[in-house]
Amino acid sequence: MKASLNTQIFIAVIASLLCGLTLQQIDIDSSVYKKTIFVCGIIGNTFVDLLKMILIPLVFTSITVGVAHLRHHHNMHQIWKTTLVFFLFTSSIAVFLGLGASNLFHLGAGLDIHLFDTELQKFNTQSLTLQEFTSHFFHSLFINPLAAMVHGDILAVVIFALFLGIALIVLAEKAQTILNMTEELLAIIMLIVNWIMKVAPIGIFALLTKLVATQNIALLSTLAKFIVVVIGTTLFHGFVVLPLVLFAITRISPLFFFKGARESLITAFATSSSSATLPVTLRCAETHLKVDKNIAGFVVSLGATVNMDGTALYEAAAALFIANLTGIELNLLQQTIVCITAMLAAIGAPGIPSAGMVTMVMVLQSVGLPAEAIAILLPIDRLLDAVRTVVNVEGDMIGSLVVQKLTKLNQ
Ligand code: ASP
Repeated sequence: MKASLNTQIFIAVIASLLCGLTLQQIDIDSSVYKKTIFVCGIIGNTFVDLLKMILIPLVFTSITVGVAHLRHHHNMHQIWKTTLVFFLFTSSIAVFLGLGASNLFHLGAGLDIHLFDTELQKFNTQSLTLQEFTSHFFHSLFINPLAAMVHGDILAVVIFALFLGIALIVLAEKAQTILNMTEELLAIIMLIVNWIMKVAPIGIFALLTKLVATQNIALLSTLAKFIVVVIGTTLFHGFVVLPLVLFAITRISPLFFFKGARESLITAFATSSSSATLPVTLRCAETHLKVDKNIAGFVVSLGATVNMDGTALYEAAAALFIANLTGIELNLLQQTIVCITAMLAAIGAPGIPSAGMVTMVMVLQSVGLPAEAIAILLPIDRLLDAVRTVVNVEGDMIGSLVVQKLTKLNQ
């Protein structure tokens, strides 16, 4: 009997942990180590490439169709508003948790910045002020859709698809052929997603083996307290706060949710990319969590680029960590600025690996912290990125369930 996809993915995770830990014991200059990491890199990247290959057509068609179909539901405005309120509400909680944990555990205090001299010297950061970030952000919203698709600018594709979906609502029957075509394209792409998922266990195995094998244990242990607190708080948000919000609003049990969501959560962990995971997330939301296709198409696709609770939490916690490390005391006003910029940074960060590190520079600079300090965080980012991406993706799926419930669809 063939094991289900979930079981195969589970086996892949366990096997990758074992292989990764075994590789940790091998000399990194040995040819076995180098070859294994090389092969894992090729296989893992191919899996990510497959997901990225269908990403743009998927985002484009799912949002267009999702929005266009909202015309059948008389509460279109409510869906919009509920989605945005939910995104803001949960990411505010995340930012407060990040700041709270940093304050509570005095992250960074007691560590000597000179421990990181080598990292700091190697690093040469490009500054990104709040003004630059804001103008760059607005400039990236409205782009020629073909250019956006070619360059993989997801946010711009999302926005064009929103326009198209709304236009299809306005034109109704007059544009039925285009809507039918887009629907057919979406069905075709979802079929391809199902094919890609067949190789997901192999891809996840390769990505995780490389992740575990290449962690720099020495550096991880220097920053152990920071890592444990950040991961712990992120998991608290993902496994306590978000499921509580879900249960309070929808009465859906966390068990049902995690069972339905796990393919996507594991893929998010392995790829560290909400965007690359989007095809899997949409599939989980629709097939396992039974979210209305139109709601999922809209909420999950939009959420993959703008709703990042894990990133918001991390940016706030890390900013305070750097402040403590460099001996700079942040007052209440400065902490409030950190909250706001961390949320903006999470909205603006694309769903790709370590995107949060780039926008982190802006958060640091907003309160006068040295941007070079992210050189300390970069070497440990692969692991933290994996965890925060899981929570980013989880927030999108929970969002779709909450929006579905609050807007009373399917009832
Ligand atoms: N990797 C994260 C994501 O794709 C973004 C980040 O770096 O925080 O969701």
